[in-house]
Amino acid sequence: MTTPRIVLHPGPLVVASHNAGKIAEIADLLAPYGFSVRSAAELGLIEPEETGETFSANAILKAEAAASASGLPALADDSGLAVKALGGAPGIYSARWAGDGRDFAQAMRNVEEKLAAVGAVTPEERRAAFVCVLALAMPEGAVETFEGRVDGTLVWPPRGDRGFGYDPMFLPDGHARTFGEMLAEEKHGWRPGEAQALSHRARAFKAFAEACLGSARA
Ligand code: IMP
Repeated sequence: MTTPRIVLHPGPLVVASHNAGKIAEIADLLAPYGFSVRSAAELGLIEPEETGETFSANAILKAEAAASASGLPALADDSGLAVKALGGAPGIYSARWAGDGRDFAQAMRNVEEKLAAVGAVTPEERRAAFVCVLALAMPEGAVETFEGRVDGTLVWPPRGDRGFGYDPMFLPDGHARTFGEMLAEEKHGWRPGEAQALSHRARAFKAFAEACLGSARA
């Protein structure tokens, strides 16, 4: 038996994140669909501890906590950078590598130092992927997840001051500019109805939009 998909109609939707960079990107991706987007911080929702061991588990716990506290549908993102030569680290701990001060210049230096320690110098040795799982949770309890991934290489020194997090050191395959050098629309690489998306978040969002927002476009 297949579980019926959640179909979401325009109305209030909580973006269950306290990360300003992610909220801006998700709000941007949702813009054509006519939702009134509220952030978890704006609603005073408490950020649950990310106790899951996978992107999916953490995305689900954030979406479910926000949906049950707000009584509204909630969309949460759990994402991170997986570096091949570091066995997939920092992965689900990507935010934690920036410390309490959310210092991503330091987090990128940590990645670079660990790459140097394992002798990863060539682009082939510096492969990485950004991964994103979006979870949609309904106040009644239904939940669905959607995954997106983008492969690339890590450059040093970091390039560009756009985006957030590890963007300035991530060069997506087939591109000459890092995510830190791209405008938001280049990083997403996708608008409704288009076949391709670029970023991990836009790829996960495209799967979510096609499954749950079919008739919701404004
Ligand atoms: P969390 O999902 O809130 O645990 O945090 C994910 C962390 O992964 C962010 O704080 C960033 O460090 C990193 N990250 C996720 N997506 C991106 C992105 O699109 N660009 C750069 N860094 C990202």
